[in-house]
Amino acid sequence: MSVGFKGSCLCGAVTYKSSADPVAIVSCHCADCRKSSGTGHCTHMGIPEAAFTILGDVSYFDKGTDSGNMVRRHFCPTCGSPIYSTNSSMKDMVFPRASILDDRPEMTVSMAVYASRATAWDPVIEGVPTFAEMPPQSDMPEM
Ligand SMILES: [Zn+2]
Ligand SMILES: [Zn+2]
Repeated sequence: MSVGFKGSCLCGAVTYKSSADPVAIVSCHCADCRKSSGTGHCTHMGIPEAAFTILGDVSYFDKGTDSGNMVRRHFCPTCGSPIYSTNSSMKDMVFPRASILDDRPEMTVSMAVYASRATAWDPVIEGVPTFAEMPPQSDMPEM
């Protein structure tokens, strides 16, 4: 069984790799994830920062969440692909996007959050724990 994963943006200027498997894979249907994703949701993989390596230059955009934390969304300045996010409430974690994975297509989503904000054209995945907003006492910050 393989451990870890790697990904690259559309133009290939930015790559990431992780030496650890995700603690959780979360599909988030909040409006910020919809607008930054190109579709109705983002799929975030939570991993310890120590396991994460990024190669290439990234730009970022900061936006606050409902609870007042700051999410920094990093993207490729050339092709615009989302790369990863960080959250001011969890400084030892990073949240690479599953959308630019180059391997591990068998990994599955752990939970869906902000389901109350999902659109009919991109419905919430079935068969996983689903929360209208964030799960109570979540280990995952808002993304
Ligand atoms: Zn790129
Ligand atoms: Zn979100």
